[in-house]
Amino acid sequence: MLQGKKKSIFYILVLLCLLNVLAWLAVYSLNKTHFLEITFFDVGQGDAIFIETPSRNQILIDGGPDSTILEKLNKKLPFWDRTIDLIILTHPESDHLTGLLDVLRSYNVKNILWTGAVRDTSLFRKWQESVGEENARIFIAKAGQRITVAKTNFEILFPFESLQNELIKDANNSSIVLRLDFGETSFLFTGDAYKSVEKELIERGININSDVLKVGHHGSKTSTAEEFIKEVLPEIAVISVGRNNNYGHPHPETLVTLEKYGISIFRTDLDGDIKIISNGKNYAVSTF
Ligand SMILES: [Zn+2]
Repeated sequence: MLQGKKKSIFYILVLLCLLNVLAWLAVYSLNKTHFLEITFFDVGQGDAIFIETPSRNQILIDGGPDSTILEKLNKKLPFWDRTIDLIILTHPESDHLTGLLDVLRSYNVKNILWTGAVRDTSLFRKWQESVGEENARIFIAKAGQRITVAKTNFEILFPFESLQNELIKDANNSSIVLRLDFGETSFLFTGDAYKSVEKELIERGININSDVLKVGHHGSKTSTAEEFIKEVLPEIAVISVGRNNNYGHPHPETLVTLEKYGISIFRTDLDGDIKIISNGKNYAVSTF
């Protein structure tokens, strides 16, 4: 009798635990269904930006300089989620690329978007190998391409022409520039593109006006021309930069330009991870 009672209590407890897990799963997905969430991870001197659309599609722009990205994704994603819908490599430079190799090893990546430009480095050859081994669809970036996922629209603004198989020496200026629109909110990602690319975007009359700007090249003075800021007119500028980095990023000149236009500056070296949530009309920034 006692045995039977103990058994049924055990089963009830198991059932309650299962219901609890299911309830949390429901809360987890309910909470997020109407929002776009963008997290600029603090990965030291490099870029790694994680985007979750309202349909919970996951996109990673760059992977940072080392395997820190794996710790960040482990915290961010539930343990059962081992798939990333799209990774974007803005340009094949170590501080953007290295972490993506770890991501390709650890996650099932469905789609990869990059420029296809070629570099003569061992890191680049590792990238080529990893991309070849991953069973992903490959897309070569070119201005005018659009990706639409659940009311979230990405538009590639640069490079103007395909760079596929082109040997490049200075990868920074080959960076994919892309704009993300969600409802009335917009975000501009510029990789490490220099002022010359910023200038060309303006000269071609491309709409770069955005609420949030991911500042080019970690706040170096090689990017963020005043003319560019006048066109983008962001409310928020995010600088992805390492604490006490050897490059002196961000450059005081860049900060002065941003401050001149009353733009709120967030920095991963000072603020840690920076998360922006948008409901399509308004957005909120929080730091961790
Ligand atoms: Zn960089």
